[in-house]
Amino acid sequence: MSSIEVAGATIDTRHYIDGKRVASAATFTNTSPIDGSFLGEIARGGQAEIDLAVAAAKKAFKGWASLGPKGRGEILHRIADLVEANIETLANLETMDNGSLLRSHIRGVMPRVAMNIRFFADWAINDLHHASFETRSHTNNISYDPSGVAALITPWNAPLMLATWKIGPALAAGDTVVLKPAEWTPLSASYFADLTKQAGLPDGVFNVVQGYGREAGAALVAHPDLARISFTGSVPTAKTIARAAADNLTPVSFELGGKSPCIVLEDADLDLAATLAVEQYDNAGQVCLSGTRILVHKNIADAFATKFAEKAALLKQGDPRDLTTDIGPQIHQVHFDRISGFVERAKAEGANIVMGGEANGDLGGLYYRPTLVMNPAAGSEIVTAEVFGPVLCMQTFESDAEAVEMANGTEFGLAAILVSGNRSRADAVAAQLVAGTIWVNCFFVRDLRAPFGGSKKSGIGREGGTWSFDFYADVKNTVVSPNGWKE
Ligand code: NAD
Repeated sequence: MSSIEVAGATIDTRHYIDGKRVASAATFTNTSPIDGSFLGEIARGGQAEIDLAVAAAKKAFKGWASLGPKGRGEILHRIADLVEANIETLANLETMDNGSLLRSHIRGVMPRVAMNIRFFADWAINDLHHASFETRSHTNNISYDPSGVAALITPWNAPLMLATWKIGPALAAGDTVVLKPAEWTPLSASYFADLTKQAGLPDGVFNVVQGYGREAGAALVAHPDLARISFTGSVPTAKTIARAAADNLTPVSFELGGKSPCIVLEDADLDLAATLAVEQYDNAGQVCLSGTRILVHKNIADAFATKFAEKAALLKQGDPRDLTTDIGPQIHQVHFDRISGFVERAKAEGANIVMGGEANGDLGGLYYRPTLVMNPAAGSEIVTAEVFGPVLCMQTFESDAEAVEMANGTEFGLAAILVSGNRSRADAVAAQLVAGTIWVNCFFVRDLRAPFGGSKKSGIGREGGTWSFDFYADVKNTVVSPNGWKE
């Protein structure tokens, strides 16, 4: 069977290569995290399918590159139009596949998918210009040329959203693409491939190979014909990919994990601080940039904890298709077990779990209760490792300097949230934090013109605006002499 019905949509379960559907002899099983229901058998690609896809992308490159930013932009806007026309379908599909809230998919995530594509298409047309300048009467002309085939590897926590942070700029830059979606969430990429076809994207410009990371993913990143590898996922996988990329010296862009701090200074608005802290349970804690380490000044810790508990008690856990639900299930049994493993080991070490710390018995399945670990030991696993689930730690500090030291005290540096009532104090603390994004008295304000990415082990490179094109394009300087002209 080459297609399945999910949430009223027909999804092709095969790869999408050179504008055609391609089957594999092997398949893998896809289930819904909502209730464990069987969604379908998905084509399980490997070396052969990757070779086909990269060859198709390589063949299509010259034609796509030659369209220029305007020609490419017209098609990219048509893709965005089709995404907008299919928001309900994409939202329902993604919710069935990854268990994130339908409410968020409809209101925020899927509209942003369309916006991501439009933004980068327009940026390539209007903003990707570097002023020429003179060197001893020679003119330096800087251009952003298409670079070739971009391999895109994406995770399951916001599948299409995160993929289009890469697909948008890669295609706008004139690269052609092979996308390998996460094996736990293969569906929205397949549906999106159909939309690219409907929009008239030339065959071979965008390809999707489904399959496991260790098979399709490994074959893709080791391919010698890639110009770029862009990866969003975990640190261990990034290390494997970096080794594979090294053989071909393929440039990499990595958006990786985090263990971000949410710092509440002594002068913070406690209500705002507690609201922001409780937001860190969003997407059942499966958000790379979550502020999972809540660092609170000792003098306000009790008052803050009371407010936090009041607000957290209002969270409704349940079926993510119910528009009143705040927290859905974890993505997969393997991931659920990983989360509960972290919590059980913390318990065994004597950690004080004041909220949650177990599966939600009323719901069963993959629903893990929002959990708070109070004052875990400094340096313990639960405060240093990324859990990627609804598990927050709360620790106290006695001075701004100590808060900074604790905040910077992990191997990660993706984001930080800082809550303070005093601007100059907030500026001084923010300046000392090592992270790609600092949110002061707010969370998750993301403008595509701004750089996004991680410091330390949280990533290599930045996405957004010209930063994306610095990666996907071949940046070239053509130096033109005033001499030697015959006309
Ligand atoms: P993961 O590293 O297990 O997998 C990510 C992708 O890599 C999947 O498509 C997988 O199939 C593929 N993959 C696995 N092994 C591979 C290999 N050897 N070669 C090539 N590809 C391979 O990560 P995950 O569990 O899917 O996602 C969760 C992680 O992603 C967390 O660490 C989270 O913080 C991170 N993340 C980061 C950002 C960001 O923007 N910084 C955003 C979302 C998620």
